[in-house]
Amino acid sequence: MAGSVDGRSPHGPSRGTDRPGRDGQLRRLELRNVDVPSGGARTFEAPVPIDPIRFGGQAYLPEPGAPELRLDVVRVASGWHFRLRGAVAVHGPCWRCLEPARMDVAFDATEIAMDGADDPELSSLYVDDDALEVSDWARDAVVEAMPAVMVCGDDCAGLCPSCGANLNEGPCGCAPAPTDSRWAALAELAERLARNEPSAAGDGE
Ligand SMILES: [Zn+2]
Ligand SMILES: [Zn+2]
Repeated sequence: MAGSVDGRSPHGPSRGTDRPGRDGQLRRLELRNVDVPSGGARTFEAPVPIDPIRFGGQAYLPEPGAPELRLDVVRVASGWHFRLRGAVAVHGPCWRCLEPARMDVAFDATEIAMDGADDPELSSLYVDDDALEVSDWARDAVVEAMPAVMVCGDDCAGLCPSCGANLNEGPCGCAPAPTDSRWAALAELAERLARNEPSAAGDGE
């Protein structure tokens, strides 16, 4: 009997992608280390660090900062197919009252990267130098899955447009504000007409 069958190789195991980073986080996946034959698939489940998100001009923090995500990698004839799934809570200011708000965001995104393709449909934005930028992709996937508006609750009353008080804490004592400045302008014009005064804008053309 020749040789050893203990499975050790002089260069160490080539399955390092199962343990994504030194800290266990999967920020970037080196595709050359993903050892799958054409048609084969691998699944990675690892915490993926997600950078703070800019949304509607405000900063939002994912929590946890590195949620456990699931990444499916399929080697197709001359390229890759990726699917990234997970959920994260996003924390940041409510768009109406500016108090802290929190939204649960679940996402399920796919990407295709064909070898040497120039077509943007076939070459993933997140594949660069033979590596998949998992963190960048995850952040964009979260942004895409976020609701159109970020509010602390659907019934948030927002801030008083006159004094800035948080109306969720009760009425501020200001007169009820006109809901729309265009209506306010029309109301003012109607009042002037009723008093038979000329418009403040002058006599016109
Ligand atoms: Zn609010
Ligand atoms: Zn007020």
